[in-house]
Amino acid sequence: MASSITFHRVCKSFGNHRVVDGIDLTIEAGELFFLLGPSGCGKTTLLRCIAGFYMPESGSIQIGNRDVTRLPPEDRDTGMVFQSYALWPHLSVRENVAFGLELRKVARAEIRSRVDEALAAVRMTDRADYKPNQLSGGQQQRVALARALVVRPACLLLDEPLSNLDAKLRLEMRTEIRRICKQAGLTAVYVTHDQKEALSIADRIAVLDGGRIRQCGTPEDIYRRPASRFVAHFIGETNFIEGTVAETEPDRVTLSTPLGRIQSTCLPAAPLHPGDQVTCSIRPEVIHLGDRPPEDAGNVFNGAVHDTQYLGEMAQHVVNVFLSGEEHPGEVTLNVFDMNPKIVARDEEVRTSKLWFREHNVVVLTS
Ligand code: ATP
Repeated sequence: MASSITFHRVCKSFGNHRVVDGIDLTIEAGELFFLLGPSGCGKTTLLRCIAGFYMPESGSIQIGNRDVTRLPPEDRDTGMVFQSYALWPHLSVRENVAFGLELRKVARAEIRSRVDEALAAVRMTDRADYKPNQLSGGQQQRVALARALVVRPACLLLDEPLSNLDAKLRLEMRTEIRRICKQAGLTAVYVTHDQKEALSIADRIAVLDGGRIRQCGTPEDIYRRPASRFVAHFIGETNFIEGTVAETEPDRVTLSTPLGRIQSTCLPAAPLHPGDQVTCSIRPEVIHLGDRPPEDAGNVFNGAVHDTQYLGEMAQHVVNVFLSGEEHPGEVTLNVFDMNPKIVARDEEVRTSKLWFREHNVVVLTS
C-alpha cells in the first residue's frame, strides 16, 4: 500500500549551515514527486531525511500515519535507488535483488516468486543470471530498481538515478521509471537537477533553493506560471523585462516597460497597484514573428531580427526590439524560438519584423 509523506517544519543543518530550512509539505500516496533545484539546494539532504540517513534537528516526518522522524532507516519501509546503482559485483542479478528479502528472513519460495515479479516489472527476467559487470548502465539501473521494489516499500526514494546514463538511455529510462512506479502504485520521491526529467514525468514538482521550497505544483504550473524570478529562470528559458504598473483592471494590468506598454492577464496572487515595480517573464516560444499579426495578437511590437540559428526542430532568433514609437532599435533584445521554422539562409541580412505575444503569456512577477 502506498503511503503519503508529510514534512512538518523540517530543518537540518551541518554545523552552522542550515541546508533544509523549515520544509512543510505533503506528498500524496501514489504520487511521483520531484525535488528539483540547483546544486547544493538541499534536495539530497531532504531525501536522506526521509530515508533516515540524516535526522532533522527540528520538525517531523510522517510516512502514512507513522511518525518516522526518530526511526532508524531499516524501520522506515523505504526503498532507495542511488546514482551509482550500488550493486554487489560478485552476486548475480537474481541474488542482488533477493538480498534484501534474505536479510529480512523471508521464506525461500516467496523470495523466488517476488524476485521473479520484480525482475519482470523492470523487464530483466532474461538477465537474471548475469553479473552486474555484464550489464549496460541502463540494465544495472533496472536491477537497482528491482532491488528497491522487491521489498515492497511504502515509498521509493530515487537520488539522481539516471545521471550516469547517456542521453538516449536517460530518455528511455525516465519513462520506464514512471511506468514502474505507477504499475506498483508506489509513492516515489525523485531528486534531480535535470528540469526536463522532472517536467516530463512528475505528477508534481517542488523547486528548492537555499533549503526552502520556492514553488510546488504540477509541471505545467511551474513552467507556465512560475511564482518568482528564480523559478522562471531555473526552469526553461525566458526573457525578463522590467516594468512599472501603469493601470490595473480586475484581471489585467498594463505595464510601462522599456518596450512600451505591455498588457498581462497572468498576475501574481497579491494585488498590484499603479507604481509597483514588477518583472515580466515571457518564454521565447510564445513570441511570434511575422508581417501580419492576428487581430487578437495582444502585445505587438516592431523589431530587427539580427541573429538566427536553425536548430532543426526549431529556430532561435535574437530580436532587437524598436522602442515604442521610434524606428530604431533600442536596448532590449528578446530571444524568440520559432517551433515550426522554415529554412533560413545563413548570414541573412538583418530584417525587420513585427513580433507579438498574448497577454496570458506575460507572467508578472513581484519577487
Ligand atoms: P547536488 O545536486 O549538488 O547533489 P543537493 O541539492 O542535493 O545538491 P545536498 O547534497 O543536499 O545538495 O547538500 C546541500 C548542502 O549541504 C551543500 O552545501 C553540502 O555541501 C552540504 N552537505 C551535504 N551533506 C553534508 C554532510 N554530510 N556534511 C556537511 N555538509 C553537508
